[in-house]
Amino acid sequence: MAKQPDEWNSAIDTTRPSIARAYDVVLNGKDNFEVDREFVAEIVKVVPEIYDVATYNRQILGRGVRFMVDQGITQFIDLGSGLPTVENTHQVAQRAEPGSHVVYVDNDPMVLAHGRALLAENDRTAVVTSDLRDPKAILADPAVQRLIDFDRPVGVMLVGILHHLHDDEDPRGIVEAYMAAVPSGSYLFVTHFCDSSQDSRDAEKKFLALLGTGRFRTVEEITSFFDGFELVEPGVVPLPLWRPEQPVPSNLTVGQRLMYGGIARKP
Ligand code: SAM
Repeated sequence: MAKQPDEWNSAIDTTRPSIARAYDVVLNGKDNFEVDREFVAEIVKVVPEIYDVATYNRQILGRGVRFMVDQGITQFIDLGSGLPTVENTHQVAQRAEPGSHVVYVDNDPMVLAHGRALLAENDRTAVVTSDLRDPKAILADPAVQRLIDFDRPVGVMLVGILHHLHDDEDPRGIVEAYMAAVPSGSYLFVTHFCDSSQDSRDAEKKFLALLGTGRFRTVEEITSFFDGFELVEPGVVPLPLWRPEQPVPSNLTVGQRLMYGGIARKP
């Protein structure tokens, strides 16, 4: 049964859509309110495939985490992690490598409510309710310090989040600050809404009108987040094309091209 507002912390604003809760709607979750569902209904008018887009993003998240575990990564900082859903980072990582440590970071108070339950059941996973735009504070957070060994490579994840940041919030500098804190052999994992066609620009207009934050970026701009790192094959590509585990049609739909992603290694 869907949760009622009064079950949650009073910091939760049920009068405006939240990114975390709207994302929960498109993943067919139950942790959302009427205002979030109305927001998604508006988005569906310009991007009928938005539910599929969220699924592609969750699928690449799983493939990306498995890829990093295969490279020997057993600790992850998942920035803008969202509300727990199926196949979260710790589940994917700990299934592949049970000793994996995962710190989730999100500024939505509802994520913390879930995080407490998560913490109770798994001492290798923590949720930090904080603003990822302050890397210094995040990196100094006691949970991060406890679970992440900065002498060993780390998987830094900014999956489905950098498009929520405006240029003047310095997303590039934020990426650099996290990657400066981790050693050689660490990985950066980014997925991002891509400005690649009139369809994507229409979608962006609607997103921004309703959420008022961030912007879609071109493939070149998304790729530039990886400057100085070694992009792993196949580079920055539409999500379904990144190391697919199933056959992918040659003609991608608008929804399949709406987000791009990639992973790179810190040399
Ligand atoms: N990373 C998950 C995924 O890709 O499946 C969730 C992505 S969800 C679209 C973006 C998340 O980033 C939301 O849960 C939102 O609350 C969070 N977020 C947005 N701005 C943030 C900020 N400044 N600091 C921390 N989290 C933020």
